[in-house]
Amino acid sequence: MAIPVGFQFMQHDLMLTGGHVIDPSQGLDGPANVAFRNGKVSAIGPKLDPKSAKVTRSARGLTVVPGILDLHTHVYWGGTALGIDADALARKSGTTTSIDAGSTGAANFHGFRKHVIEPSETRILAYLNISYPGIFAFGHVVNFGEAQIPELLNVQECVRVGRAHRDLIVGVKVRLGLETSKMMGLWPLELAIEAAEQLGLPVMAHVGSPPPRFIDLVARLRPGDVLTHCCRPLMNHALDTKHRVIPMAAEARKRGVVFDLGHGAGSFSFETAKAMLKAGFPPDVISSDVHIRSIDGPAFDNLVTMSKMLCLGMKLKDIVRAVTEAPARAIRRPRLGALKVGSPGDATLLKAVKGKFEYIDVTGATLQGGWRLAQRGVVLGGRWWHDGEARA
Ligand SMILES: [Zn+2]
Repeated sequence: MAIPVGFQFMQHDLMLTGGHVIDPSQGLDGPANVAFRNGKVSAIGPKLDPKSAKVTRSARGLTVVPGILDLHTHVYWGGTALGIDADALARKSGTTTSIDAGSTGAANFHGFRKHVIEPSETRILAYLNISYPGIFAFGHVVNFGEAQIPELLNVQECVRVGRAHRDLIVGVKVRLGLETSKMMGLWPLELAIEAAEQLGLPVMAHVGSPPPRFIDLVARLRPGDVLTHCCRPLMNHALDTKHRVIPMAAEARKRGVVFDLGHGAGSFSFETAKAMLKAGFPPDVISSDVHIRSIDGPAFDNLVTMSKMLCLGMKLKDIVRAVTEAPARAIRRPRLGALKVGSPGDATLLKAVKGKFEYIDVTGATLQGGWRLAQRGVVLGGRWWHDGEARA
């Protein structure tokens, strides 16, 4: 076929130009252009020619990272009292993959899939709750833990539904603690592990007030399992009263247990987070645990949670790893947290804004911070999806 004069073959659909790319999955931390084609990353490098793309967007002065994953969210909007809207959250925070942490169980996952996950523009994956109805009674007024009634903790049903929706389910969720499992101790965790073993998936375990004790819970977790709420205030976390890492936590990290922040309304204190950073034991994953009782503060979203960690002294490169490569590995979908050629075409554009900002944790403590991470654009499935907040 003759090529008309003046015709230029466009190799890429979209290119982000002039940005600073941080992609810990491939050790990238420097200037590069990122190109997308057919919904995927098609090229990345400092010398890509912008003329080879149909559309270009300037990322000058911005940090380009793989699309942000939020490992702990509650996004069954309308189907559960605690659920919030994933797409609205994504527009605000630059999250391209929301992982729902057990809002639904075997009884109601199908509705979550049909009414929320499938129509959603952004990607939603989910941990399936070991409790049959999921987190069915968590609102502003009513709060009744789903893991305290033995009849609701059904391994067989969890496995059946987990197998039927294997394309979306990334693990089994269990919430342990006085508020959620009452005096059941480790029993709900044993059942969650039993279901997870049959499914060949990891467990995400929520730690609350004892029982069970943190050390007993963490001792039972297997390599690849996730412990969420690792920066919770008061007791039952990875540090002793002198802020030293307890041996059981150090051993767990060594064998591959993942420590997830999971901010929420009751699970993040500046004091614990600061002490963990000082002890050389930072969270592996930064997540918001955003739900109806934390979205208007103190968590807000993952970008605010990331900003808090930045102000506490965590390096930007490590923060990016904690919202891209690390959660993608935790859900065993490493391509989601990377800008490698062939990876899903998701990217988030960030700017670290210098100034004076006040942050709040779940205890009401405030932090005067010198930084705020702003979201300046989202690429989703290889196309420009959202402009982010106004550039200043
Ligand atoms: Zn949660």
